[in-house]
Amino acid sequence: MARKRYSVFAVAREALRGHTGWPRAWASPEPRARYEAIIIGAGGHGLATAYYLGKNFGITDVAVLEKGWLGGGNTGRNTTIIRSNYLQDPSAAIYEKARSLYETLSQELNYNIMFSPRGVIMLAQTEHEVRGYTRTAHANALQGVATEFIGPQRVKELCPIISLDGPRYPVLGGLWQSRAGTARHDAVAWGYARACSDMGMHIIQKCEVTGIRSEGGRVTGVTTTRGDIGCDKLGVVVAGHSGRLAEMAGFRLPIESIGLQALVSEPVKPCMDVVVMANTVHGYMSQSDKGEMVIGGGADGFNNYTQRGSFHNIEQTVRALVETFPMISRLKMLRQWGGVVDMTGDRSPIISKTPLEGCYINCGWGTGGFKAIPGSGWGMAELMARGHSPLTEAFGMERFREGRFIDESVAAGVAH
Ligand SMILES: Cc1cc2nc3c(=O)[nH]c(=O)nc-3n(C[C@H](O)[C@H](O)[C@H](O)COP(=O)(O)OP(=O)(O)OC[C@H]3O[C@@H](n4cnc5c(N)ncnc54)[C@H](O)[C@@H]3O)c2cc1C
Repeated sequence: MARKRYSVFAVAREALRGHTGWPRAWASPEPRARYEAIIIGAGGHGLATAYYLGKNFGITDVAVLEKGWLGGGNTGRNTTIIRSNYLQDPSAAIYEKARSLYETLSQELNYNIMFSPRGVIMLAQTEHEVRGYTRTAHANALQGVATEFIGPQRVKELCPIISLDGPRYPVLGGLWQSRAGTARHDAVAWGYARACSDMGMHIIQKCEVTGIRSEGGRVTGVTTTRGDIGCDKLGVVVAGHSGRLAEMAGFRLPIESIGLQALVSEPVKPCMDVVVMANTVHGYMSQSDKGEMVIGGGADGFNNYTQRGSFHNIEQTVRALVETFPMISRLKMLRQWGGVVDMTGDRSPIISKTPLEGCYINCGWGTGGFKAIPGSGWGMAELMARGHSPLTEAFGMERFREGRFIDESVAAGVAH
C-alpha cells in the first residue's frame, strides 16, 4: 500500500473528509517462506537496523519478526533521554552519530518523533563526580562532542526548581550538553516501521521466534509460532531476551536481564525545561509535553524477567528526587511501569558477529539504549551488509574474552 505523505495539506484535506482517507501506517502481511534478511525484535534497534539495511544498502527483502506488538518492549517503556556525553571514544562515536541523526529524523522519516534538544545536566554532587565529569568534558572536546562542565549557579539558572543544598549532597556543578534532550519513544518505533513498510519490508507482529535453524555452522532460518521462515542473514535484536535467543543459536552471552522501572506524576504547568540526572542520589527527571514529571532511577538489584520493577526502588528514587526538587513532594504519581534491560559488565553494548555464521547480535544497551537507536541501526545494518562497520568494531562480543572492556560505568551510573 502506497504511503501517503504527512503534510499540512494532507491534514487539511483529511479534516474536510472526516479523516477517512488515511492509509494504515504500516502493512500487516503474512510471512513468506524466505527472506534475504530477518531481524528478530521490532523495538527501535531492530526497526532502525531494517530501515538502514534498505536505505543505505538497498536490501529490502527483509522481515522484522516481533513476538508481541511493535515497540512494546523497552523502546515503548523508557524515559526517552538522548545524550552522547560518554567517556570512551567508541561510545562517543556511536552515541553522537545517533544524536546527530535524531536532529533530522522527523524530516527524514516524514514522521514527527518530537525530538526536543532541550539540554541535559548530569549533576556533580561529590568531589569525585566533579573530577569524573571534568574528565568527561575534556574527553568530549577531543571527540567533537559539545559538552561543558558548569558551576552551581549556572545549574540553578538552567533549572530554577532545583535545590543546590540538599540534605545529603550539595550541587557542586554539572556536565551540561545543550543539544541533548528527549524524543517521543513510540513515534521513533512507528516512524521507522512506516518507512520500512514503505520500502516493501514485512513487519510481522505476534510472531515469536522459538528456534534458530542452521546447517554446517551457518544460519538457515528461524522456527516461529507462525511457521518456519528461511533467511540468508539473521539479526537478533531482542534486548532483555538476548540470552534466550543466543541459547537457541548455540552460544552464550555475558548479559544479565534485570527489571528497570519508571513513573510519571500528574500533569502540572511547565516548571522545568531541561533534563536533570542526579547520579549520586540516584534519580532523574524531565517534564513531558503533557506536563507530567517523568521520573526514573536505578535498576533492580537482582536478575528477573518480570517487566515490573521492585517497590523499594520507587521509594528510593522518589526520596532522591524530593531532596533534589523539594517542590515535587506534593505531586501525586499517576503511573509506574517496567522493562527488562540487558546489562553487560562494562555497561557498553554488544554489536557483533556470532559463532553462528550469518547470525549477528545487537544487545547490551541496558538502561540507556533509546538514545542510541539511529546510530546502532546504522552500524548494525553496515555490519550485516558488509561484514564490518567502523561504528561497531569495538563492540564485538570477543572483547569480554580478550579483556578489552569499554568501561562506561561512570557515564552510565544512573544510565539513561
Ligand atoms: C524504565 C526504562 C527507562 C529507560 N530510560 C532510558 C532513557 O531515558 N534513555 C535511553 O537512552 N534508554 C533508556 N532505557 C533503555 C532503552 O529503553 C533500551 O535500551 C532500548 O529501548 C532497547 O531497544 P531494543 O530495540 O534493543 O529493545 P526492545 O524495545 O525491548 O525490543 C526488543 C523486542 O524483541 C522482542 N522479542 C523478544 N524475544 C522475541 C522472540 N523470541 N521473538 C520475537 N520477538 C522477540 C520483544 O517483544 C521486543 O519488542 C530505559 C529502559 C527502561 C526499561
